[in-house]
Amino acid sequence: MERLAMFGGERHVTVDDADRAALAWPIVTDAERQAVLAVLDGGGLTSVGSGAATVSALEAEWADYVGVGHCAAVASGTAAIEVALAAAGVSPGAEILVPALSFVGSASAPVARLLVPVFVDVDPRTYTIDPLAAAAAVTPRTEAVLAVHLHGLPCDMAPLRELARQRDLVLVEDAAQAHGASYRGTRTGALGDVAAFSLNAVKNLPTCGEGGLVTTDDEDIHRKVVRHRQFGEDMSTPRDYLSHVLAGNAKLSAVQAAFARCQLDVFPARQAARERNVREFLARLAELPGLVVPSCPDDRTHAWHMLRLRFDPVALGFPDVAPGALRTVFQRALRAEGVPVQQYQPVPLPGQPAFQTGEGFGGYPWRLPGVPAPRYRADDHPHACAIIDDSVTLQHWHLNPAATDVLRRCADAFEKVWSHRAALAALAAKVSYQPMWQRVERAEANR
Ligand SMILES: *Cc1c(COP(=O)(O)O)cnc(C)c1O
Repeated sequence: MERLAMFGGERHVTVDDADRAALAWPIVTDAERQAVLAVLDGGGLTSVGSGAATVSALEAEWADYVGVGHCAAVASGTAAIEVALAAAGVSPGAEILVPALSFVGSASAPVARLLVPVFVDVDPRTYTIDPLAAAAAVTPRTEAVLAVHLHGLPCDMAPLRELARQRDLVLVEDAAQAHGASYRGTRTGALGDVAAFSLNAVKNLPTCGEGGLVTTDDEDIHRKVVRHRQFGEDMSTPRDYLSHVLAGNAKLSAVQAAFARCQLDVFPARQAARERNVREFLARLAELPGLVVPSCPDDRTHAWHMLRLRFDPVALGFPDVAPGALRTVFQRALRAEGVPVQQYQPVPLPGQPAFQTGEGFGGYPWRLPGVPAPRYRADDHPHACAIIDDSVTLQHWHLNPAATDVLRRCADAFEKVWSHRAALAALAAKVSYQPMWQRVERAEANR
């Protein structure tokens, strides 16, 4: 048996210059260079006025791809959620259902609109919001649901849409990780009342920095999104400088739009290549006992933004080892072999220090009249906790279509690590392990 790199053996996956090019993300070609230079040389830098044509071309192309009537480009994915909520007309102090497992922006953007996040546990198979748990969390104060298509898999939208209809809730998609994925034949961005995408450089549709897109079929929501991204103005020509609502500035620059348009040109082809690479990689990992690979229900397609891999001690044959300890040891072994698996979100959102303290907006929205005092506990969401405890993620490496060969070597490294699984499990049995959120909650309680 080949010795593990963790114990002084040879590292299995080494990355040379050719590999580095195959793993680069975003991919920058002459198309992007020329498009960005054309904006710089043409002087069309602002997103309204001189650069408006570039920005509105991106908006029209994305609306067409998604299959909706309207798209507005904004400064980031987080800004996209904020202006979407502002445009949807939710009231300060109202509750919004947010999955307990997501990126913190999914919860902090609603707070910036003075909404109170009510966290809902996720489904243990899909990692997206559990529609039954969502229904159980609705109160008379609830006005919105944020459906986060986590890691690229669309949420189970049919029951969420039904819940939104019955309880008169605004259904907002957080599609920051799920460009191009579909649910029952409809693409993300067209599955709710309004949707937020991120164009951040690490996402599946990247720009050269920060950006976001808001899609909707509702003309009135779109008009309000546009106002909320730019000082409350309608930006008539000539500009009349009349501000109709109190709003900040969340516009996208023409340079970012030009770069993103080039990425969109090749997006479907890259997504198809990624689908092949990821399916091949996951099919090999699925052969390893006790490794749970992401699944995609038949009624959906997956954007594969991130690959989450769970360790199941029972299926691995070590039922007495704590899942968190097992994951920690396997994570170390895999990283030593050169596979950059890492934890993504070490705490459920309610366990974030920010939600333990509520600091940021002077105690609001929880100080608004009638709003109950915050009581956020990670342990209230056992599936989110278990998933965080027993899983690692592979990020970025699989995004580039040229990563085929590196992914094959990563699969080899998994197999190598698995051939040592008994020794690793024995080691895990001796490790003392406490989840991060318990450490955070203790630290905040002792402040
Ligand atoms: C990245 C991300 C965001 C925020 O997007 P930014 O462009 O980084 O502001 C929001 N939600 C989810 C699920 C994300 O992954």
